[in-house]
Amino acid sequence: MIKNVLVVLGPPGSGKGTQGKMLAPILKYNYLSMGQYLRQFSEGESELSQQVKQTIDSGRIIRDEWMTQIFPTAIAGLPDADGIILDGFPRDLGQTPILETFLREHQTENFKVLFLEVEKEDLIKRITQRESQGGEMRADDNPEIISTRFEEYKNKTYPLKKYFEDRGVLITVNGNQPIEGTHQEILRKLGL
Ligand code: ATP
Ligand code: MG
Repeated sequence: MIKNVLVVLGPPGSGKGTQGKMLAPILKYNYLSMGQYLRQFSEGESELSQQVKQTIDSGRIIRDEWMTQIFPTAIAGLPDADGIILDGFPRDLGQTPILETFLREHQTENFKVLFLEVEKEDLIKRITQRESQGGEMRADDNPEIISTRFEEYKNKTYPLKKYFEDRGVLITVNGNQPIEGTHQEILRKLGL
């Protein structure tokens, strides 16, 4: 049983990882970054690992059929906890059945989605500054690939916002603020 599941949704560079990691110890949930997990997975020897690597490096999102295989493995590696923060999963409507099955199988009672809203100019600034500020170095943080990632986001991930809104589980947060300001807004909106 995994009582609580919180999805963090938002465009590339919106601070999903930053906020998710700050929130996890407060809620005593596990934190899973799907992007980070996939980058690690892509270093493996298998054919699937190589296909995942090619996809990530091109700025596109991993195919749903592959995610069907990969998602349960990512979850299986987590220690016991009251809940889980899913950063970057689901990433398109095709992945929602994987999520729904997961919620049903784990009898999840409390399911919410945090949507981090950030202006596009800010996003590009953040991603390109990440490297120069000694942050995470990523092969997909170059201008051409960044524009593919935004296209993928707009076409495939953004529709999830309405999907979750229609289900009454969406919490929208202003992610244009400094890290601490966004964090405080999240705590307030989660009633913490
Ligand atoms: P940021 O971490 O700054 O918010 P981001 O959202 O672009 O930026 P990650 O979440 O780290 O970055 O994802 C990196 C890459 O991993 C994506 O471009 C995509 O190829 C792949 N990826 C991550 N999560 C998924 C998913 N749920 N389904 C398919 N592909 C995914
Ligand atoms: Mg991330």
